Amino acid sequence: MPRATETVLEIDLKSLEHNYHFLRSKLNQETKFLSVVKAFAYGSDAEKIALTLQDLGTDYFAVAYTQEGVSLRNAGITKPILVLHPQPINFDVLIERCLEPSIYSPKILKEFLETAKKHGQNNYPVHIKFNTGLNRLGFWENEIDFIVAHLKGQNHIKIASIFSHLAASEDMTEDEFTRKQISTFHKIIVELGDQLGYTPFRHLLNTSGIINYTDAQYDMVRSGIGLYGYGNDAKIDKALKPIATLKTIISQIHKLEPGESVGYNRAHKSSGYTTTATLPLGHADGIGRHYGKGKTYVMVNNKMAPIIGNVCMDMIMIDITNIECKEGDEVILFGPQLSAHDVAKTANTISYELITGISQRVKRVYVP
Ligand SMILES: *Cc1c(COP(=O)(O)O)cnc(C)c1O
Repeated sequence: MPRATETVLEIDLKSLEHNYHFLRSKLNQETKFLSVVKAFAYGSDAEKIALTLQDLGTDYFAVAYTQEGVSLRNAGITKPILVLHPQPINFDVLIERCLEPSIYSPKILKEFLETAKKHGQNNYPVHIKFNTGLNRLGFWENEIDFIVAHLKGQNHIKIASIFSHLAASEDMTEDEFTRKQISTFHKIIVELGDQLGYTPFRHLLNTSGIINYTDAQYDMVRSGIGLYGYGNDAKIDKALKPIATLKTIISQIHKLEPGESVGYNRAHKSSGYTTTATLPLGHADGIGRHYGKGKTYVMVNNKMAPIIGNVCMDMIMIDITNIECKEGDEVILFGPQLSAHDVAKTANTISYELITGISQRVKRVYVP
C-alpha cells in the first residue's frame, strides 16, 4: 500500500475474509452465519463489506434501521436482510425492498401485521425478538400467548426465526447470568414452537457468544465486531485481523519554547523545548475530545506520540519531540499495528464506539 497522502480509512478485504473463516471454523458446518453490517459495517463501508461477505457465502445480513437495508438492496445485496430495530413509519418501504423485520413488541407486531395485510402479503418472513435479560428490546416470555393469538387465523406473516441477544457474553464473571439467559431462551423456543405447530429457526449468539458459548449456537449466529477484527478478548484478538486502519499525515511541524501552549483553551502547556505536529483529522472525523490531553497515543514512524491539548474539529496536535519525522509523514490512529480496543480504552470506551464513529468525511480506500 502506498503511504497515505491525506486522512484515509484503509480497508483490507483479505482480513475480512480471514475473520469470516475464523469465526465460521468455531461453528458446526450446518450452522448459518448472519453478518451484522449495521452502522456502515461498523464504521468501515457497508456496501463493499456486504458484497464481499455475500461472495464469501454468508447466509444472512442484519442492519439496525430500514434505510440501511435499502442501501444494501441498492448495492446489489440479494441475501435476506434482517432489520433489527425498525419503526412502523418505514414498514411500507421495508416490504417493498424485501427486508425482514425484527418484531420486538406487541405494538410492532400489530402494526406490521396491518401493513403486510395492506400489501397483500402471504407468509411474509418476520423474526420474533425476545428479551431474556438485556432489557432493551423484545417480547417478554409471558407474551407468547399474545403472539400466538395474533398469528392464528391469518397468513399475511409467518415467523421465520425466534431470537434473543446476550447482555454479557464477553464477561465470564457474568457467566451465571448468561447461562440463565440461554435457559430462558430455550424455554421460550419450546413453548412457542409447541403452540405454533412449526419450528422457526433460532439464533442467540453474537461474536463473544460464538467464542464463549459455542454450545448455544442453535441454527444461526450473528456476528459483527469479530468480522471487523476485534474479539473482546486478548487471545481471540490474536487470531483475528483488524480490517481497517485509520491513517493520516503530518500537515505541519512546530517548535515550541518552554511554557508555550497548544490549541484551544491553551489546554496543553509545554514543559520544555517541544516539537509538535498537527494532523488533518479531529472530532468531526470521529476522534472525540476524550482522546485529547495526553491520554491517547498515535503511531509515527513506529514510535508512539501522545495527542496533546484539546482535539479540535478538524485537527489534532501530537508531541513528536523525540521522534524523527517530517511534514507529510504517515501517522496511524488505529489498525493492525495499534489496536482500536487499546486506543478506545485510553478514553474509557470500547472498540465498537471508536470504529463506528469514523465519520463519512474520511475517505475509504482499499488495500489492493
Ligand atoms: C449489534 C448486534 C449484534 C452483533 O454483536 P457483536 O458483538 O458485534 O458481534 C448481534 N445481535 C444483535 C441483536 C445486535 O444488535
